[in-house]
Amino acid sequence: HTEAQGMELEKESLALLREAVERMEAGFAGLPDTTSSMDRGAMRDVLLKVAERMRDNYPYFHPCYAGQMLKPPHPVARLAYMLALWVNPNNHALDGGRASSQMEKEAVAALARMFGWETHLGHLTGGGTMANLEALWVAGRLKPDGVVVASDQAHYTHSRISQVLKLGFEAVPTDARARMDATALEQRLKRGGVGTVVATIGTTGTGSVDPLPDILALREKYGFRLHADAAYGGYYVLADNLGPETAEAYRRLPEVDSIVVDPHKHGLQPYGCGCILFRDPSVGVLYKHDSPYTYFSSSELHLGEISLECSRAGASAVALWATQQLLPMTRGGDFASGLASCREAAMQLYGRLQSDTRFLTIMSPELDIVVFAPRASRSSDVSRMSRELFDAAASADLHLALFSYPARLLRQLWPDVRFDGDVVTCLRSCLMKPEHLAWLDRIWERLIAALPLS
Ligand SMILES: *Cc1c(COP(=O)(O)O)cnc(C)c1O
Repeated sequence: HTEAQGMELEKESLALLREAVERMEAGFAGLPDTTSSMDRGAMRDVLLKVAERMRDNYPYFHPCYAGQMLKPPHPVARLAYMLALWVNPNNHALDGGRASSQMEKEAVAALARMFGWETHLGHLTGGGTMANLEALWVAGRLKPDGVVVASDQAHYTHSRISQVLKLGFEAVPTDARARMDATALEQRLKRGGVGTVVATIGTTGTGSVDPLPDILALREKYGFRLHADAAYGGYYVLADNLGPETAEAYRRLPEVDSIVVDPHKHGLQPYGCGCILFRDPSVGVLYKHDSPYTYFSSSELHLGEISLECSRAGASAVALWATQQLLPMTRGGDFASGLASCREAAMQLYGRLQSDTRFLTIMSPELDIVVFAPRASRSSDVSRMSRELFDAAASADLHLALFSYPARLLRQLWPDVRFDGDVVTCLRSCLMKPEHLAWLDRIWERLIAALPLS
């Protein structure tokens, strides 16, 4: 715990917040004063209690947290979000947030351009789940009689969303690299009745990218709506160090009908920021509604007219817009090289694991997730040792995640292992922070020190 004592949270930027609040306040200077007294002492007591309660968390912000898909927002996003809270705009309608709605339109157009779309229809959402709900809702309106098909490694939200929307859902098997098996997809398409295919561009479990060129070829032949769930992987379209097959899938991404990307996953945003993008803006007609509560006042587009969610934090749009100003989403830019260094960190960790006989590996990471396990001769021992290593690493302040891998996909890769169960518990590490590359030696040291003695 020696390093932990030197740990400091970034606080310098708080001074900028005060300056920015004062700059914003000047815009409202014509109003009568409403300052009221508050009990600062009581508020301080409560806040310090909150600070103590919040210590009971994994240190998600720290590079030694290398488990689930978590990373801190950029300081500029944190500050812009807080700045917006003094006004607390609601991006449901322009009347709820004129400036923040405009910023949302600009930020969302920038995301669409990142995927090569000059025109689009889209908006921010509370997260990837809501964004995917909207994608499948539109898909279901356009293809009401067809089932939704996704790979068995797609996010579990797709089967649940399909239930909510009363659309049929079927899973297609994956290959040994956890990508949708295009041959299996074609077999399913031949039987007919598929309305929508969900291609996962970066699975949540292993960061695998479904073979989009093959899926696009099947769309030519069978005709279905194609949605790309790029909630986690979408921003990797900017990275310049992807493998050739992965890069080709990203190159073809503009050809899908809709894309979900989560700025709160890889876009340096606080939670509450997903995004749905449709390639064809005319799907907007499906949203038409008439409500006595609606306070849409002008003929300009209110985001609530093209969104299933009503009230939404304008602060999320402000934070995303600010981040894009500071770190434009351009190939070769600082933001893109941050992503590339995450993938480089994952490749390096994979290389170390692969050349160490104490570990079993599965596949070279396509993005920044590495799945591995301690070597043992029986799969149940691999699972047990993974859980032991997970606990031992956590006590040494290295935080990993666990992942249940289907044994079916591992049999060929691990010929020396005797399989005595259907799933194998493995370790999973999302190296999502740009600092992870520089921290790899320290992460490795802790991992080795935590290895169970088999
Ligand atoms: C995270 C994720 C989701 C769900 O998004 P939330 O923002 O957690 O609601 C959906 N699909 C994929 C591929 C994801 O990684």
